[in-house]
Amino acid sequence: MRDAEFERGRSFVMRLEKGRDLLEQLTDYCNRRSIDAAQVTIIGAVTRATLGFYDQEGREYGRRVVDEPMEIIHATGNVSYLDGERFVHLHGTFGREDRSTVAGHLFEGCEVFAGEAILHELEGPVLDRVFDDATGLTLWDL
Ligand code: ZN
Repeated sequence: MRDAEFERGRSFVMRLEKGRDLLEQLTDYCNRRSIDAAQVTIIGAVTRATLGFYDQEGREYGRRVVDEPMEIIHATGNVSYLDGERFVHLHGTFGREDRSTVAGHLFEGCEVFAGEAILHELEGPVLDRVFDDATGLTLWDL
């Protein structure tokens, strides 16, 4: 395990905009507020979602578009840097009308119906992502 110590910074409470992409609006917000590293939690609803699953053998993400209204039961993740840009990494569990759930890594293509997000900023060293040969993923450079 590798780690680094961070301090709690500012906290932000956001009401997400209807009709906008979830990742895009969070990334825009972090850029506007100069949030370099953070912990994120979200609840709310989407009109559609694009969910990923990482194929560990094939080393690539499969994507599935779920084109229906769903609750955001819980989305959680973080903010760090990837290729010199702020990068929001989220996973989410979504509730369907029949009360079943779908879940996965969130890609662009999650359209917000309504959302409440809380960001806790983390202050410390630059939290950058680098390619990890062992997994094929871009992981924190700790
Ligand atoms: Zn992920």
